[in-house]
Amino acid sequence: MLDNLTQRLAGVMKTLRGEARLTESNISDALREVRLALLEADVALPVIKDFIAAVKEKALGEEVIGSLTPGQALIGVVHKEMTQLMGGANSALNLATQPPAVILMAGLQGAGKTTTVGKLAKLLKETQKKKVLVVSCDVYRPAAIEQLKTVAAQAGVDFFPSSTEEKPEAIALAAIDWARKHYHDVLLVDTAGRLAIDEAMMAEIKQLHAAIKPVETLFVVDAMLGQDAVNTARSFNEALPLTGVVLTKLDGDARGGAALSVRHVTGKPVKFVGVGEKLSGLEAFHPERMASRVLG
Ligand code: GDP
Repeated sequence: MLDNLTQRLAGVMKTLRGEARLTESNISDALREVRLALLEADVALPVIKDFIAAVKEKALGEEVIGSLTPGQALIGVVHKEMTQLMGGANSALNLATQPPAVILMAGLQGAGKTTTVGKLAKLLKETQKKKVLVVSCDVYRPAAIEQLKTVAAQAGVDFFPSSTEEKPEAIALAAIDWARKHYHDVLLVDTAGRLAIDEAMMAEIKQLHAAIKPVETLFVVDAMLGQDAVNTARSFNEALPLTGVVLTKLDGDARGGAALSVRHVTGKPVKFVGVGEKLSGLEAFHPERMASRVLG
């Protein structure tokens, strides 16, 4: 198993005991270790470069106080910087609008959109006592609509049926109308995803977004994508005014580098993380905890 960053830094900075400040020369080996740790955590290369530059700027001249070693002082700077870059604190879902609060889910096929709709529906119902309706605008895959129906039943929320004959906007607008008439607080809109970024998919979801004007547009991305998460995030962020990100499959081996990369590329907060296939596997995102996970 790999040493964690603290141990590694202790190794390279051993000789520096007694130094009172972090300087260009005493942190260069250590920064190399930080870079390696970020690479192992699957943070994207351009993101690592910017991050290291930011850490260096913050660290230089920093006093090594009290009983800290220079290595510990640097870890403190790295941890703090990463936490801040990931948003500092948890960013909550915004439901402050005329009901129903419409939440649009976007992402590639297999990212975990439908599962996340079920998880979020359950969370909103159980923790905020919201009346939730869900709808699928995936008119290409009847199986996706069926999957959402199953998930809605498991979550104990209402399901608005869709037909593959209709256009996504027509389905979503009918669902909004239904939600309004039946006093739903929240409408979760699941969408079609492709295996790769595709112009037709982007045009469709842009049109859907313009028609339904959601209060939240969440980009769902698989943490296991690692480096590739960046390109996907960039494309979705360019096509849609995203309001947040859901990072899924963090119960697996992913070290979570995608959290930093996606935040860096989109500038949008990660709001939730998926931590399992079950509908209970959704948690609020906490930048500080994620920084500890990324740094190992
Ligand atoms: P969609 O195509 O984006 O709607 O993706 P799905 O919701 O169908 O999810 C694709 C696969 O990922 C399914 O097998 C899900 O059970 C799985 N999945 C989704 N979220 C998570 C998660 O947080 N952890 C794990 N381990 N699996 C997940």
